[in-house]
Amino acid sequence: MNIALNIKHFHELLKDSDCQLVAISKTKSENEILEAYNAGHKIFGENKVQELTDKHEKLPEDIEWHMVGHLQRNKVKYLVPFVHLIHSVDSIKLIKEINKRGRKINRQIKCLMQVHIAREETKFGFAFEELVEFFQDKKAEEFPFVKILGLMGMATFTDDMDKVRSEFKELRELKDRLKKLNKNRNVEMNELSIGMTNDYKIALEEGSTMIRVGSAIFGERK
Ligand SMILES: *Cc1c(COP(=O)(O)O)cnc(C)c1O
Repeated sequence: MNIALNIKHFHELLKDSDCQLVAISKTKSENEILEAYNAGHKIFGENKVQELTDKHEKLPEDIEWHMVGHLQRNKVKYLVPFVHLIHSVDSIKLIKEINKRGRKINRQIKCLMQVHIAREETKFGFAFEELVEFFQDKKAEEFPFVKILGLMGMATFTDDMDKVRSEFKELRELKDRLKKLNKNRNVEMNELSIGMTNDYKIALEEGSTMIRVGSAIFGERK
């Protein structure tokens, strides 16, 4: 795997687009991350709190760290001082905790709401109607130390690319719908975090603003 070359490939691919690359570095070493960093990349994502905080401590300060995995409430406090964006907000209880911890250090924490797609295997994420209600009822205003930038989703794990495309379309439509009915000051609803190694090309065609790519940059994980 030539990590630097892979990074350059993605930068070239995205250079005239409104989409950012979040390089998913879970299980990868600090040296591998530095290879990507030295090739000019500064946005990295991890799915475990311990690994994320360790890497944040050891690696250059100007890296933007994104949390993309399921987040337990009792670990929120370790992330809020430095995390750039939490992609995986999947319950009201979790938003409450992020808000509480943000308030303690007077920092507004940027988040995406994770949407659950019925046919996908993970059990995490909000149902479509739950989110519609949440924004309609102006619930976000109860959490002023959370800034909701948009949605995150994962397509069903399948070779059926038509199905993947239709799921991405549903997420895009949901985002647009929520943006229209949103009246909350701390909500923007401009970001759509969709697309991984196997489906980022489709995600780009369907309006992704953040692709989360691991193996296509760093190689297969063990
Ligand atoms: C691991 C992971 C990715 C990246 O997966 P690849 O298939 O290696 O690109 C993206 N998003 C989340 C939430 C992940 O856990």
